[in-house]
Amino acid sequence: MLMELSRPAAPAAAKQLAGRVAIVTGSTSGIGLGIVRSLAEAGAAVVLNGLGNIDDVGEIVAGISAEYGVQAIYSPADMTKSGSIARMVDLTLETFGRLDILVNNAGIQHVAPIDQFPIERWDQVIAIDLSSAFHTTPAVPAMRKTGWGRIVNVASAHGLVASPFKAAYVAAKHGIVGLTKVTALETAEENITCNAICPGYVWTPLVEAQIEDQAKSHGIPREQVIRDVLLAQQPNKRFATVEEIGALTVFLASEAAASITGTALPVDGGWTAH
Ligand code: NAD
Repeated sequence: MLMELSRPAAPAAAKQLAGRVAIVTGSTSGIGLGIVRSLAEAGAAVVLNGLGNIDDVGEIVAGISAEYGVQAIYSPADMTKSGSIARMVDLTLETFGRLDILVNNAGIQHVAPIDQFPIERWDQVIAIDLSSAFHTTPAVPAMRKTGWGRIVNVASAHGLVASPFKAAYVAAKHGIVGLTKVTALETAEENITCNAICPGYVWTPLVEAQIEDQAKSHGIPREQVIRDVLLAQQPNKRFATVEEIGALTVFLASEAAASITGTALPVDGGWTAH
């Protein structure tokens, strides 16, 4: 069995992720930003990534650092470009000398009937929601160097079941559940775990955009879209929160989760129990 090389000394009353360094892709908004907050609150240094204007992003990064007392930096890596993604991992290693936790979270959605699905939208969804999580693989050798690592892939309930009109998203999310299993098997003896989180609907800008789109395409009010369309499959009839996803990520990154690997964990209010 591999042993972990020591992480930097932490104060006596250390938080559980003190000394750890985490990358969270797509963390300028929504679930990714919620995960960054939870990891930073648990003491990890964080590398944020995602789209956004430079002033807004600078404010978010400085705010995380000030609020949680951890180092926070930003990588502008474009999740559609493999070279740009590799440079994000390099930046992390140059800045911190280590990488312990990788959260592949960046994602977009496009809704259209399969026979009218625009090819460029298919390519974009597959690139951001699936291929980017392959292109962050340089994280694995970095984790092997310290003998410890945690990879969390933010998939979706749509990684386990399908809905109509979401061909690219459902294909990408099923793909990332498969990638999670392969990564878990290849790293199982190395103190590295890889798991997927499969949220149902979480209240974020991505979902907000879907409410607007669906209200227009069905010609119904937004309240009805929320109740009858989005949460139709979610038995508990409430949106999950970014704090809930953040808390699960911290747990998966903890010592207590050392034997949990290769899983796809639903956080979906019972959706996939149907
Ligand atoms: P969001 O739109 O709030 O955030 C998406 C993030 O990805 C943003 O930071 C955005 O800047 C970033 N991003 C988009 N394109 C990028 C690119 N080319 N390069 C770098 N970053 C890019 O969405 P969200 O709801 O927080 O979704 C986050 C993840 O959670 C996605 O993978 C999504 O599929 C998944 N998810 C969301 C829900 C939900 O209900 N919100 C449910 C299940 C799964």
